[in-house]
Amino acid sequence: MTPAPDLDLWLKVLTLIEPQMARGQFITWFKDTTILGREGNNVVIGLPLPMFLNWHLEHYRTMTIAALKEVDPTIDQVVYQVDGGLKDDTTRTLRLLEHFPDKKRRKLPGRAEVRIAEGLTSKLLNPRYSLENYVVGPVNRLAHAACSAVAGDPGGKYNPLFIYGGVGLGKTHLLQATGNAILRTMPHAVVLYTTSEDFTNQVIEAIQHSKMEQFRRRYREVDVLIIDDIQFLANKERTQEELFHTFNTLTEERKQIIISSDRPPKELTIMQDRLVSRFERGMVADVTMPDYETRYAILAEKAQEYGLLLDEKVLRYVAEHATKSIRQLEGILMQAVAQYELEQCVPTVSSMTEIMNKLCDSMDGKQEDVGFEKEPEKAIAFQDVLETVSKYFSVSVPDMLGESRVREILIPRQIAMYIGKKHVRMSYVRLGATFSNRDHTTVMNAVEKIETKMKEDGQLLREVRTIEKEVGISA
Ligand code: ADP
Ligand code: MG
Repeated sequence: MTPAPDLDLWLKVLTLIEPQMARGQFITWFKDTTILGREGNNVVIGLPLPMFLNWHLEHYRTMTIAALKEVDPTIDQVVYQVDGGLKDDTTRTLRLLEHFPDKKRRKLPGRAEVRIAEGLTSKLLNPRYSLENYVVGPVNRLAHAACSAVAGDPGGKYNPLFIYGGVGLGKTHLLQATGNAILRTMPHAVVLYTTSEDFTNQVIEAIQHSKMEQFRRRYREVDVLIIDDIQFLANKERTQEELFHTFNTLTEERKQIIISSDRPPKELTIMQDRLVSRFERGMVADVTMPDYETRYAILAEKAQEYGLLLDEKVLRYVAEHATKSIRQLEGILMQAVAQYELEQCVPTVSSMTEIMNKLCDSMDGKQEDVGFEKEPEKAIAFQDVLETVSKYFSVSVPDMLGESRVREILIPRQIAMYIGKKHVRMSYVRLGATFSNRDHTTVMNAVEKIETKMKEDGQLLREVRTIEKEVGISA
């Protein structure tokens, strides 16, 4: 094994790796790494901390080997070795921030483009977005299934595919993930991903240079056309016109079209009717804000992606309180990741509260807008709820938790579930588990039933309010 680290080789390799991942991840996981040497056809990669080992093995090994082979085809495998001395050792490691400054990304936020065919450019698809790491829950199941179907059979049954929903709920993720999936199975497909803004600019440019014919011809080469945020085409008559033609040409040739929008087709009122009716001809699916369980799963997934270990309690807390959008959820997590990296501060419920409050302040204290639910005034133990309900209705706690479905027990049980969900902020799943392993949908139905009944039945409303007061909840 050669003694001196091969920094030249490593720099070449990292230059190939860097564009393939989010900058934060690249800096975090490749800082203080190096090539310690070679053993025959194996390259020994040095990592500064034991926690890097698993992460590299799981996420970056394949990528690293591929890049090494590209630089030096004789290389066969990598071996990892943890060497604590590498941390901040600038003689044996690269100064990543100098070799890979952030500038170029700042200057061109989200504008990175690739040439995909003669005269055709597409925005880059973020490799981080995949159909596999999109967490599926009841509110986005259909959209995800439709995207998966399209990925498996572009130009097939679901054409066009129209995904709509509010800001930060995963539309771009789904669109790009579908593009990525198609390219994985059909590497030569011409997949063009663009935003309506970009598409408009291209049309304008073509008009200015009298190259409309060329523009149309080129778009005919596209196999999959993905247009994000189509709502911004409102009022752009000429661009809509062009889109309409492109649309027809492509669908006639059974090419796939995927579109996202912030609202359903029929609400795109400033859009030409004939375009809207084209959108409606295929598959239309929406995404909305996921429920608590899905938010929890998304957070867990993202935390893992960013290499941050979050305590169960912290996960639950954030998932409960970040109710505005997934982007917001991710924003909170990114803050925690930064804090962890910069200050080695392990996230706790209180550090998360602080982050959320800060994010709140920076939005002018518009708490509702940011969507953080207020913290419950006082921690309430579910056991107290059970006992209070039990006393109030003279039903035993085990009976309430049990299987019996007689009415005398059913109502108290449903009320306990309602209070558990509403005020103790227990998840449906956890409530289900508490109540003899019932399915979470059973609990959900019970809670909804009580909510509806309370609106019609004054007696029930008073009973619930009395119990709440008893437990210490001020309504
Ligand atoms: P939109 O385009 O609807 O405004 P994005 O696709 O940009 O939203 O989503 C915002 C962030 O939330 C992205 O980082 C995305 O990966 C993440 N996200 C949204 N929904 C999910 C989901 N169901 N599973 C995993 N990540 C999600
Ligand atoms: Mg988007």
